[in-house]
Amino acid sequence: MSGKITTQVLVVGGGPGGYVAAIRAGQLGLDTTLVEADRVGGTCLIRGCIPSKALIHVASRFAGLQQLSAAPHAGIALKSEPDFDLPAAMQWKDGIVDKLSTGVAGLLKKAKVRVVHGTAKFADAKTCTVQTGDAPVEITAEHVILATGSVAAGLPQLPWGDGVISSTEALSLPALPKRLVVVGAGYIGLELGIAFAKLGVEVRFVEALDRMLPSYDRALVRPVEQWLKKRGIEVLLNTKAQDVARANGGLRVTVQNGDAAPQDLACDMLLVAVGRRPNTQGWGLEHMALTMDGAFVKVDAQCRTAMRNVWAIGDLVGEPMLAHKASAQGEMVAEIIAGKRRSFDPVAIPAVCFTEPEIVAVGLSPDEAKAQGIETVTGQFPFAANGRALTMDAGGDGGFVRVTARADNHLVLGIHAVGAHVSDLSGEFVHALEMGARLEDIAHTIHVHPTLTEAVPEAALGALGHALHI
Ligand code: FAD
Ligand code: NAD
Repeated sequence: MSGKITTQVLVVGGGPGGYVAAIRAGQLGLDTTLVEADRVGGTCLIRGCIPSKALIHVASRFAGLQQLSAAPHAGIALKSEPDFDLPAAMQWKDGIVDKLSTGVAGLLKKAKVRVVHGTAKFADAKTCTVQTGDAPVEITAEHVILATGSVAAGLPQLPWGDGVISSTEALSLPALPKRLVVVGAGYIGLELGIAFAKLGVEVRFVEALDRMLPSYDRALVRPVEQWLKKRGIEVLLNTKAQDVARANGGLRVTVQNGDAAPQDLACDMLLVAVGRRPNTQGWGLEHMALTMDGAFVKVDAQCRTAMRNVWAIGDLVGEPMLAHKASAQGEMVAEIIAGKRRSFDPVAIPAVCFTEPEIVAVGLSPDEAKAQGIETVTGQFPFAANGRALTMDAGGDGGFVRVTARADNHLVLGIHAVGAHVSDLSGEFVHALEMGARLEDIAHTIHVHPTLTEAVPEAALGALGHALHI
């Protein structure tokens, strides 16, 4: 591809924000061009959500088999220890990524989206040049949707390379390290650190704050803390990594807890997972006359930037940096460009952390509601009292569902859960909030027996003061 392209909609970045925006714009009959520097799918599909969940799944299955080989359970015994073949696991994971990326390319084609492969560099707000394999292509657009996503934030004292890795490398390792130090006990650190621990890696966490997973309330995080504690996995809180050096064929990481003497941790690999920063550099953003909001591109409730007909979505525009938020914004912007009346005003953006056990947060926690001056009632139901959880061996991890509602009119403000498989309940939670459910609506909705979902009406009944099964 070479020469000049004039298009109605130019989407920059083919992640869950950009590719969804492009598909919807194409469906709506807009002449649409998507520029992507890599394969379509973005961070999420190629080196984020999907590969990490594949690794987490493999690690959980392996750990389950290993437990059975150590001690028969529920009538199942394994006569020898299971083997783990990391390259084969990576190949399986890569197959899933390939299948999904090919699927996205097919959807773009079906929506008649022109895909240009290469990095877009902007000279002004509506014109960019893409250096494709063949020759430069100049693209001029009526509307530009910026969806360039985010990149791993590093720490200057722990430069990348020589065993210091980000999630991208962690998801494509050729071999497992024996000892792994994870700096940052947030989403990525915990999801991947726990998966590696299940695969037999000696994992230690270093977290700057006084608690891990600071974006979730303490009660939700406690079962994860207990899981780690039970397995002797150390989490050094209030601790920062100061330095890394090569030592004895491995790494020596110096960490410090407040004013205490620095401590050296020996490891073979160091995963730095201290957050992500918006991808704003190296592609001409400075020539577009946009207003910034800190490190992010500033947008309004319709994802308009300060420049007319330039829109920005996804990780580029701020927290939460989640794939489903990016996609929702992408779909909305395409519809606004096509003339529909839309704005980004969700009641809640659901969040799931795929730890052991999983955590779901939708809407306000009791403390967040209190901070807003709202009086609440809450109800909590433990999975230990849920038949389906027990039949799946998932009743003993301290998990529960918690429903938070306004005390005056019982409007549900938040639903939170921790426990095995709870990620799959997140849809029910957010649906209830978006539909404006009251406690009575949830309590009187008939849920299938025996399923984990029964914990939701039970928690609502609890908030109403008359739970049935506890
Ligand atoms: P991205 O997905 O980052 O896509 C941006 C795209 O733009 C990239 O493909 C990039 O190549 C392209 N690009 C950038 N600049 C240019 C340019 N100048 N020209 C052409 N192309 C360009 N979120 C969840 O909701 N659930 C999860 O389970 C989850 N797990 C994650 C696990 C990991 C390890 C990581 C790192 C992230 C995870 N996330 C998860 C976050 C999620 O990946 C992001 O929120 C999401 O990908 C953001 O989508 P986006 O479209 O804004 O940007
Ligand atoms: P994060 O913000 O979730 O966690 C970073 C952690 O690092 C925090 O606990 C922070 O206190 C700690 N930290 C920061 N500086 C430190 C330092 N110098 N030393 C020690 N600890 C330090 O960031 P992340 O885990 O890198 O993930 C990035 C983003 O990717 C997330 O915010 C999320 O939006 C997205 N993500 C989502 C999912 C999911 O939805 N399941 C999974 C992975 C990633």
